[in-house]
Amino acid sequence: MNRREFLKFAGATSLAAAFPVRSAFAGAQPHVVVVGGGVGGATFAKYLKMADKNIKVTLIEKNPVYIRPYGSSEVLTGHIQMKDLDVTYDALKSRYGVEMLIDTVVGFDPDKKTVSTAGGKSLAYDRLIVSPGIELKYEAIEGYSEAIANTKVPSGWIPGAQTQLLADQIKSIPKGGTFLLVAPPNPYRCPPGPYERSALVAEWFKKHNPTAKVLILDPKDAFVTDTTMQQGWNRLYGYKMPKSFEEKFVEELRKFKVFSAQEGVDALYAKGILKRNSGPSMISWVTGKEGGRVLKLDAANMTVEAENGVHKADVINIVPPMVAGTIAQKMGLTDKSGWCPIKRESFESTVHKDVHVLGDSSIADAMPKSGFSANTQAKVAALAVAASLKGQQPGIPSWENTCYALAGSDYGFFVADVFALKEGKITNVSGHRYLPLNASEAQIRLGAVYQQAWMKSFTDDCFA
Ligand SMILES: Cc1cc2nc3c(=O)[nH]c(=O)nc-3n(C[C@H](O)[C@H](O)[C@H](O)COP(=O)(O)OP(=O)(O)OC[C@H]3O[C@@H](n4cnc5c(N)ncnc54)[C@H](O)[C@@H]3O)c2cc1C
Repeated sequence: MNRREFLKFAGATSLAAAFPVRSAFAGAQPHVVVVGGGVGGATFAKYLKMADKNIKVTLIEKNPVYIRPYGSSEVLTGHIQMKDLDVTYDALKSRYGVEMLIDTVVGFDPDKKTVSTAGGKSLAYDRLIVSPGIELKYEAIEGYSEAIANTKVPSGWIPGAQTQLLADQIKSIPKGGTFLLVAPPNPYRCPPGPYERSALVAEWFKKHNPTAKVLILDPKDAFVTDTTMQQGWNRLYGYKMPKSFEEKFVEELRKFKVFSAQEGVDALYAKGILKRNSGPSMISWVTGKEGGRVLKLDAANMTVEAENGVHKADVINIVPPMVAGTIAQKMGLTDKSGWCPIKRESFESTVHKDVHVLGDSSIADAMPKSGFSANTQAKVAALAVAASLKGQQPGIPSWENTCYALAGSDYGFFVADVFALKEGKITNVSGHRYLPLNASEAQIRLGAVYQQAWMKSFTDDCFA
């Protein structure tokens, strides 16, 4: 939903001045407090002000500048610098009238409808929006901890000093050394992300350290975009396609009538869809079935013990299991899965009334935990909150997601989906739409151009 479409919907639900917004607090202007100024929180604050400027919106964020996670793996290869990830809140304040409070939310009182901060403030709200992102469960891997992540074995899945540490470590890997990435179990933030990161590190090695290797240890056997990503690895880094995936390629190409029923695995290579690589591969992916699940880290000796044995590496990057942001847990918004159950139409919590949870923290069924998802969820929730403050019912929503990913700086692809409510669940109604396996070189290069353009226009849509 773009800005113009949003305003059309907002106009339709408000019926202009006939339905003024109302606060539960006598005579007061309605006040919506947003916790977390990342993708979900910032988009919500901006779009709620666009829907109705008479609503007072306060955004509470613990950091004065947002460091965007999306695109942060590009720091590892020097394509961009840490400062390029910085996003300010200036436009939200000056252009949209969002009130910013730089502080950390520490709790709330759902009966009195107040939220409290570490700085000693207490704010009354009519609606509370919680979009705190994720908490990384470092300790879920024996031998790993936040202290080790900060100093020796970075994660960087929440970008910051660990991202820079990892970038520096990669550049100092000895000739022929190993970069080991531990992939997380489902569900996690940014499904193609660990594999894109592996590809970008391999690209850096290809230029600067061509005998170095990337090893991925994974508890899973599949990931979204796994065919197109492996195709990129195959073409760029000498990766040999596993048999089960060769068959998946043939199946898909037949489904889209690119291959006839007679054409099989040989045609993949004859037609240049895959390369027959005979030399060493720069990337190895050990799946769950092959014993890729990691049990233990020995940071002192730089080894990782997986189900298939012990692996030594020069740099270890762990993306640990994750759960909803700490404050969502503290507020009691999570269930036993560690994520926050919501009513799908409005993203209102099923635990606490008048509290909505957006983005990575929420349980959004088929929607991935991505920035794109958080952004469309925020727009749907902004319309729902604006409508409910006018005593109206929200409309029937639909959502979108597009994840662009890179296998190299000039090698891009995507997965794009549309979601709607079906039997009370957010369901993928488009079928997964990927860049075709027989895409031309130009389409692949354009995929990378679109990825870069998306970063910019997306950041503007959320924050500017
Ligand atoms: C390497 C990588 C690549 C990615 N690439 C893509 C991509 O290409 N496309 C895509 O769509 N997504 C991508 N993502 C995912 C995307 O960044 C996240 O899904 C998105 O940021 C989630 O938004 P959010 O609002 O839930 O959380 P966040 O954006 O993390 O925002 C949470 C905010 O809440 C604040 N906060 C937390 N607790 C408190 C508190 N108690 N008080 C005050 N403030 C608080 C935090 O400081 C933070 O600013 C990527 C992620 C990574 C790590």
